[in-house]
Amino acid sequence: MSAQKNINKRGGTDKVKKQKALAFTKSGTKSNKDKPKTRSNKGQSADKKDINFLVPPKGMRDILPSDAPPRDKVVEVSRRMAEFYDFSEINTPVLEKIELFKRGVGEKTDIGGKEMYTLKTKGGDHLALRPEGTAPVVRAYLQHGMHKLPQPQKFYYFGPFFRHERPQAGRYRQLWQVGLEIIGGESDPVYDAQIIVMFYRVLEELKVGAPAVNINSIGCRVCRPGYRGKLVTYYKEKDVCKDCKERLMENPLRVLDCKNEQCQPFKAEAPSILDSLCSACRSHLKQVLEYLEELGLPYFINPTLVRGLDYYNRTVFEIFPEGESLALVAGGRYDYLAEMLGGRPTPAGGAAMGVDRVVDLMQEKNPKFFQTRIKKKIFLVHIGELAKKRSLSLMEDFRKSNIPMRTSFGKDSLSNQLADANKDGSDMALILGQKEVYEDTIIIRNMETGVQETVPFSRVVEEVKKKLKS
Ligand code: ATP
Ligand code: MG
Repeated sequence: MSAQKNINKRGGTDKVKKQKALAFTKSGTKSNKDKPKTRSNKGQSADKKDINFLVPPKGMRDILPSDAPPRDKVVEVSRRMAEFYDFSEINTPVLEKIELFKRGVGEKTDIGGKEMYTLKTKGGDHLALRPEGTAPVVRAYLQHGMHKLPQPQKFYYFGPFFRHERPQAGRYRQLWQVGLEIIGGESDPVYDAQIIVMFYRVLEELKVGAPAVNINSIGCRVCRPGYRGKLVTYYKEKDVCKDCKERLMENPLRVLDCKNEQCQPFKAEAPSILDSLCSACRSHLKQVLEYLEELGLPYFINPTLVRGLDYYNRTVFEIFPEGESLALVAGGRYDYLAEMLGGRPTPAGGAAMGVDRVVDLMQEKNPKFFQTRIKKKIFLVHIGELAKKRSLSLMEDFRKSNIPMRTSFGKDSLSNQLADANKDGSDMALILGQKEVYEDTIIIRNMETGVQETVPFSRVVEEVKKKLKS
């Protein structure tokens, strides 16, 4: 998949960067000879390590200008969808108190435990780089007394999240998510279905292949304990992996999420949660499925889908791209989370989409998609100081008409600037020389044919607009 390619590509870039960094190390070593010796070897190795600062931390990467169009597209389509369904944008801090995630996501989960980036500030606060967006949004809902507003409140967000997991294709340590949350009101299955359909349609619009919805119910406080008991009894005699032994003690449902080969046969024979659901949970799931059917959304009931965060109850789901094993969207209902954070009982549901994975797929499935959308480019060429000055105010005129413009202000010669315009793939160059300044005119050059025409300076914006339409 392209995520792999990207990683390789980026791995390649990293290699180059590493080499540069090494070159730097070598010369650094040379010049270090002149520096006073550090007190210990420890100091020296720290210096060497730091010299690798030209490479970002493991699992993190630059989002380069060339990566921007598909990412913008993901955000644009998601935002349009969210606003249509009356969701409002919310932005919470990148750092939160560790306790929020310990309580909300769960200390024993991967996301709220071993994968979390934590730090102690100089003032002694224990903070975490947010690993996910739901707990912070619920925190904000509680803090700002949003339960007093009409319920439910609907939110969307886009931003970076941090997880210290093993980097691999489609798995980064700084990842980007678009999230949707519906908080407050009733624990109504219609909201579960709405979140699923919204992300489903976003993925359809982004053309990443037919999305496949996997859905399950993990019950509630009434029925889950009974199922948990059945699961523990079933697994008691089984020779499960080390992680599952721990899971059985701390969070037994998570054994169903085990990817270890050794545990797969047990998983297949394990009792199904669907047989243990109480009537309220059973009817909730049934209604979600009926709504999905009404919306014409195909789904697959997967009784082993449990999700890796503690706050879920009832509906959980993941959306996969056709034929791929990494989920693009994941979420569910979290009716107990507000209470876990010290608030009053507040039914809620939500999901998050992994933007990096979606973008990787978009680039793989439709590489030409973004090239064809590049707008016509205009390059402004100046010759002489007077023309340079006038170019500045001309750019302001174009800005008012929202027509983007490129320049090479640092270069003086006509041929160098035209060469830049060519390199940039510009369609049109506007040439302002001394003669034109005196005559109050400007030249419009078609960069493909080389045909030029001179127009009055006062009409240039209009003329360019006409040409952009043609
Ligand atoms: P996975 O099972 O792939 O680890 P998850 O259950 O940890 O995913 P969530 O916490 O539900 O994922 O996050 C929602 C979405 O964010 C995922 O479906 C995925 O698309 C994306 N995502 C999660 N972790 C990463 C990561 N490390 N790098 C890139 N995208 C990620
Ligand atoms: Mg994960």
